[in-house]
Amino acid sequence: MIPYGRQSIDEDDIAAVEQVLRSDFLTQGPMVPKFEAAVAAFCGAEHAVAVNSATSALHIACLALGVGPGDCVWTSPITFVASANCALYCGATVDFVDIEPDTGNMCVDALKVKLEAAALNGTLPKALIPVHFAGQPCDMVELSSLAGKYGIKIIEDASHAIGAQYKAQHIGSCAYSDITIFSFHPVKIITTAEGGMALTNDAALAHKMSALRQHGIVKDCAELQDKSQGPWYYEQHSLGFNYRMTEIQAALGLSQINKLNHFIDRRHVLADHYDDRLAGLLLTPLRRKADRFSSFHLYVVSLPEGGGPLSRKAVFEALREKAIGVQVHYIPVHLQPFYRSLGFKAGDMPCAERFYETAISLPLFSAMGQDTQNEVIAALESVFA
Ligand SMILES: *Cc1c(COP(=O)(O)O)cnc(C)c1O
Repeated sequence: MIPYGRQSIDEDDIAAVEQVLRSDFLTQGPMVPKFEAAVAAFCGAEHAVAVNSATSALHIACLALGVGPGDCVWTSPITFVASANCALYCGATVDFVDIEPDTGNMCVDALKVKLEAAALNGTLPKALIPVHFAGQPCDMVELSSLAGKYGIKIIEDASHAIGAQYKAQHIGSCAYSDITIFSFHPVKIITTAEGGMALTNDAALAHKMSALRQHGIVKDCAELQDKSQGPWYYEQHSLGFNYRMTEIQAALGLSQINKLNHFIDRRHVLADHYDDRLAGLLLTPLRRKADRFSSFHLYVVSLPEGGGPLSRKAVFEALREKAIGVQVHYIPVHLQPFYRSLGFKAGDMPCAERFYETAISLPLFSAMGQDTQNEVIAALESVFA
C-alpha cells in the first residue's frame, strides 16, 4: 500500500538519535532547547516551547491565554479533533466556523457574520483556532483584524504548515496571532515520532507554557515566593502537566529541520505534477491563493458531486483495491458522535459537510519517488477511464 503520508528518515537522523542514546541525557538535556531555538529561528518567532504532541501544545496554548470555564473557543470543522478538544480540556465550550469550500480553510465571511451575532448576544469567543488546512495558510490578515476588533486571541493550528509562508513570512512567525502550534507526528512535514511545539512572540505566554509543560513548576530564583531555601528548592505555581519532549525526539527534530526546505520543495514538485496530470480527470484540487506558499502536507482533491461510479466511496474503494492508500481529511468534527452528544448536528456547517462528501487525499510525502507517484496517477486514470 502506498500511504497517503509517511516520514522521511535518513542516516543523519538515525545517527542523531543514536548519539543521544549514548549521551547522559535522555530527557531534560541540551537537545530540546537547541531544537526550540532552531524552529524559532526558522520561523522568525521569539519563543518556542517544545512538547510531546501538538495536542498538548494546543492545550497549554489555550490555558496560557486564559481559556477556562465560561469561555468559548471557535475553530474549523474541517480539522483533526484535537483542534476542538483542547477547548474542552480547559473547561470551555467549543463552536465552529464554516469553511471556504475551495480551500478548506476557515471562511472569513462566515466568521464575520458569526461574530456580529455573537457580539449582539454576548457570546463572543475568547480564542479562535484557525487551521492551515493541507498546509495552505488561512487569510490571516482578515482573521487577525476581526479578532482584534472583537478582542479575541488567535492560536494558529499549523500542524500541517511548518515551512509554509504567508505574505513572505514563515508560518510560525506569529505575525498575525498570539501563538502558533506545530505537530511532528510522522505523517506531518517533519517528525519527532510524537511531538509538537508552541511558538509566540510574547515572553509572558512562553513563560506560562513552559511552566504548564512541567507540572506548573518554577525553579528560577527570581520567581520563587520563598527565596530563603536552597539550591534544591522549587515551587509549583500552577496546575501543569508532564508534556515534556524527550532528548531523543528533539535530536530527531533538529536533524529533520535541516531538511525542511528540501522536504517542502519535493512536496511542491509532486503537487505540481499531480496538478498537471490530473487536470483532465474531473478532480478539483484545492484552490491555491495568492500571497501564500503551501507546505503541501496533503494533496486533497474534490470528486464530482452526485455519486454513482465516481462517488467518493466508490473511488476510495477502487483506489484502496489498487493498493493506493488514499485517505479522507476530515470527517467534520461537529459530526463526531462525541460532538453530536454536545448538541451539534448535520446541517450546522453546510460547506464543511459538502466538502467532506467529495474530498479525498492522494498520497503525498517527501520521500515519494516519481515512479510511485506515476503508479498513483495510473491507478486514478484507470478508475476514471
Ligand atoms: C495532527 C494534527 C493535530 C494533532 O497533532 P499531534 O501531534 O498528533 O497531537 C492537531 N491538529 C491538526 C490539524 C492536525 O493535523
